[in-house]
Amino acid sequence: MSRTAPPPLPRSPFWQTKSTETKATSDNAQSDGSAVDYAAIDYPAIVQSVHGFVVRDVMPHLESWEQQGFLPDAIYLKAAAVGLIPLGYPEQYGGVPCNAFARIASTRALCEAGSGGLFAGLLSHGIALPPLLALGSDDLCQRIAPAVLKGTAKMALAVTEPTGGSDVANLRTTAVLDGDHYVVNGDKAFITTGMRADWLTVAVRTGEKGAGGVSLLMVEGDRVGIGKTALNKMGWLCSDTALLHFDNVRVPASHLVGGEGLGFLGLMHNFNIERLGLASLAWGMAEVCWTDAVDWARGRETFGKPLVTRQVIRHKLVDLRSRIDAVRCVLEQVAWRIDQGDEPVAEVCMLKNQATATLEHVAGEVVQILGGAGYIRGCRAERIFRETKVLSIGGGASEVLADLAARQLGF
Ligand SMILES: Cc1cc2nc3c(=O)[nH]c(=O)nc-3n(C[C@H](O)[C@H](O)[C@H](O)COP(=O)(O)OP(=O)(O)OC[C@H]3O[C@@H](n4cnc5c(N)ncnc54)[C@H](O)[C@@H]3O)c2cc1C
Repeated sequence: MSRTAPPPLPRSPFWQTKSTETKATSDNAQSDGSAVDYAAIDYPAIVQSVHGFVVRDVMPHLESWEQQGFLPDAIYLKAAAVGLIPLGYPEQYGGVPCNAFARIASTRALCEAGSGGLFAGLLSHGIALPPLLALGSDDLCQRIAPAVLKGTAKMALAVTEPTGGSDVANLRTTAVLDGDHYVVNGDKAFITTGMRADWLTVAVRTGEKGAGGVSLLMVEGDRVGIGKTALNKMGWLCSDTALLHFDNVRVPASHLVGGEGLGFLGLMHNFNIERLGLASLAWGMAEVCWTDAVDWARGRETFGKPLVTRQVIRHKLVDLRSRIDAVRCVLEQVAWRIDQGDEPVAEVCMLKNQATATLEHVAGEVVQILGGAGYIRGCRAERIFRETKVLSIGGGASEVLADLAARQLGF
């Protein structure tokens, strides 16, 4: 971000809720009605703060977190203290309002750790909290959001099921009203922070087939009847991923987010945020890979000459640079449109696909340039290479997003 001109100031924050009755807000306003002063956003300060956190609080411990399979509670407190966890949320819950560019800048700084698991685990509230803030009652928001944004509580979003994740409208977990409680039965798969979340935002079926029968319930992670199994993964090792089983779990009816049948609408509030976030992550990780490749190629000699003097390596580095810059251009263009209050669904889908495909290519080529060193645990490119696949599956698989983009483009 350092080489870009300051972005134009947006009229409307992209996390801001729209088309809801409970939280209707005007442009350029927080959910408490106060104006957001985007001119006051200090991008270098955000980057510096997150970078300091990564170097000081993350890098020395990352390998041990990867081995233990989850992030320690203390790191959430530290991430909150540097402003990372509250970034992009309303002040009334302890958040720090920002626009899409500030989010991208903070993600880029976080990428220096070379760990997508860090991003996924630390920021799992990034997909669990927006539906609640968009549609939930003030009571529920006040009970959950301040603790999460302070780093004292963790959140997870539980939508995907063992029978399928892409087709959200057909989810099977049920919630049946019994007096003043819902009784939840079903299974959720691949849930980030699912093992340790204090609050789960759970997508359930309360009504008829299809999207109109889907609702969201806020469920405490320790409710009786929730079974949890940790899943072993290819990458994102420091982020816990759970299989959750709900066996007659009783949840107060007051924990319903918005109203029955509003679940899909709530989840839609995530789509642009999550996909832009994953595209930013892919771009940031590609930048990290490229930097490591250039450093390596300058220092490594083969057959009596530095690698960087070999034409094939020089051209490869230039090719990778061009691809990464192309992603950055589209990322900034989409961020700018979102900050203008636009909802460029097709462009966000295409951006996410472009960014994740680019990272897959870049990470593969960079591991090749690093040779054996790129295959060894502890090397950033090695970790990033293992983490590329999840980015083109999660947050909407590439094929599903391409289909959605096609429909949005009118064919
Ligand atoms: C590490 C990790 C963390 C995750 N975290 C969470 C989380 O926190 N919360 C949560 O709810 N979910 C989470 N997920 C789940 C993720 O969102 C799903 O894996 C994803 O939505 C795809 O669903 P699926 O795995 O069931 O694949 P399916 O829906 O079964 O699809 C399988 C594959 O089929 C192809 N495909 C699917 N539909 C189409 C189509 N219409 N046309 C062409 N091809 C198609 C795609 O290639 C897709 O990858 C996580 C997944 C992983 C791996």
